[in-house]
Amino acid sequence: MKEQIKFYYGETIPLELHKVRIVQKLNLVPIERRLSALYEGGFNTFQLRTGDVFLDMLTDSGTNAMSDKQLSAMMQADDAYAGSQSFARLQQAVEEVLGKKYFLPVHQGRAAENIISKTFMKKGDVIPMNYHFTTALAHILENGGRIEELLHDDALQIKSDNPFKGNIDIDKLIACIEKHGKENIPFIRMEASTNLIGGQPFSISNLMDVRRVADKYGIMLVLDASLLGENAYLVKEREPEWQENTMADILKMMTNLADLVYFSARKLSSSRGGGICTNRRDLYGKMEAMIPLYEGFLTYGGMSVREIEAMAVGLHETLDETMISQSPAFIEYFVNQLEALNIPVVTPAGVLGCHVDAKQFCAHIPQTEYPAGALAAALYLISGVRGMERGTISSVRDEAGKEILADVELLRLAVPRRVFTLSQIKYVIDRLLWLYDHREMIGGLKFVYEPPVLRFFMGKLAPVSDWPEKMMAKFRKDFGQSL
Ligand SMILES: *Cc1c(COP(=O)(O)O)cnc(C)c1O
Repeated sequence: MKEQIKFYYGETIPLELHKVRIVQKLNLVPIERRLSALYEGGFNTFQLRTGDVFLDMLTDSGTNAMSDKQLSAMMQADDAYAGSQSFARLQQAVEEVLGKKYFLPVHQGRAAENIISKTFMKKGDVIPMNYHFTTALAHILENGGRIEELLHDDALQIKSDNPFKGNIDIDKLIACIEKHGKENIPFIRMEASTNLIGGQPFSISNLMDVRRVADKYGIMLVLDASLLGENAYLVKEREPEWQENTMADILKMMTNLADLVYFSARKLSSSRGGGICTNRRDLYGKMEAMIPLYEGFLTYGGMSVREIEAMAVGLHETLDETMISQSPAFIEYFVNQLEALNIPVVTPAGVLGCHVDAKQFCAHIPQTEYPAGALAAALYLISGVRGMERGTISSVRDEAGKEILADVELLRLAVPRRVFTLSQIKYVIDRLLWLYDHREMIGGLKFVYEPPVLRFFMGKLAPVSDWPEKMMAKFRKDFGQSL
């Protein structure tokens, strides 16, 4: 059943099919404190402390609510260095849900990317993909490779009714292979629910086409399954051929098409950890020795046994439509409301969060002054809501040190599973509306400390003028208070 219901008076809104049994108190600190927190954190929302944050919409990573079943499984964990029963349960869950016999545990998704890149890539290789994820790109660059992003031309359009913006353009894929030669392409990477373009899914028919191309050229197909549950849910919703199938069928169909599947369990199964799985013994054999070297012994891979238990239960729970649909249903509501208010937002609604288009929202801020970063800072200032910049700050510089301007400038407001209530979403919509009406007041940012790798995590920025002070004064005037 979907976490969404049609009301008698006509509107369809999300309806929670769970109840809250453990609560965490939130802090809504005054705007004066929020302004200080921004300066202390270098106008980078990654650097804020949660004591200063009201609604934490930074990420869906490791922040989904756990189920009672996950928590009780954690209490039954088997603390053994080797041969743990907890690991056997996880291996079984991977086989049942993802349909893969061989499983390598890792401490989180990027560790899987490290191992896959180190094992299969050589310097100068090209990795074709639908779109990059920050950590996947970092590991490919680290191993001397580069990427080619092969989405259809319209996938980066903010407003769209394309239900599968995450699809690879098959003609571009074939041209890419012909151009670089299959000997320089160790694998094709497909990312489920393409994270950085707004959590947009691919269709099964597209994945089947990619498989055919991979077979034709003898190239391995790697699936980043971190957001596979949501991709499967949207296939069921949007791809006519699959509407009668169960989540279990759809998930297996997708993983069956890939030679190698890896995932961040922080997202897929709402705990910690990650894994790589395959049915090919040869591929498993090539990676096996890397696990004890980088992660931990083969039956824990850097995870605690409690995390392993939560992950095993979480994998089974991804088959439950009630659980998976909660976040997409809230996001759809969030996106539709913003669209009705003419606030620029990525459509159709995707997964993992609502993505506000900062390029349009802050059309007066040049990309070199980071409109998405500025919008994230401004929203925090006036609401205590923490989002994440997904734009040029999250991008990199080229070899000459020049900014590579991001294709899209997005403020991502993550909606982790079963964490927020509908009135909290309404609060965010209301504050975004105030901000949109005062958008000319938002100013740019500049780096004052810029780390060379993954700069968006630890970088420090400063406003280019006193726009935050002016905005605070206007906010206090309009609301007559500091909250
Ligand atoms: C989060 C994420 C990763 C990296 O996983 P971590 O557990 O954060 O290291 C890789 N791919 C995708 C699509 C992700 O969303």
